[in-house]
Amino acid sequence: MGFEARDHGYRLPGATALVLDSHLAPWRGWMARSRCLDADCPPNRLIAVGDILAARGDVTLLGMAEGLRCHACGAKAGSVSLVLRSPAGEIVQPLRGRAALFGHRA
Ligand SMILES: [Zn+2]
Repeated sequence: MGFEARDHGYRLPGATALVLDSHLAPWRGWMARSRCLDADCPPNRLIAVGDILAARGDVTLLGMAEGLRCHACGAKAGSVSLVLRSPAGEIVQPLRGRAALFGHRA
């Protein structure tokens, strides 16, 4: 069942790979957070998923992640997550890269 074998080092195994193949529309109301992997660059501003849907249509989550670039240096975003802001705090769904480490490292 080889997500890892097929795309070693790129896709994450299991549920996250399934998330990446799913479409963006159900995430309307969330925000996309991204940044490159250069520690000197600031994170990009949050982008509303609704704005991405309006600009690019109902792409897959992977397609969305591929289209995001660092606003500072122009590199492809290496770290992408979806964020839902609520009064109780942020709910974060990491999609790729070091997104899982947001909040733990600068
Ligand atoms: Zn950058």
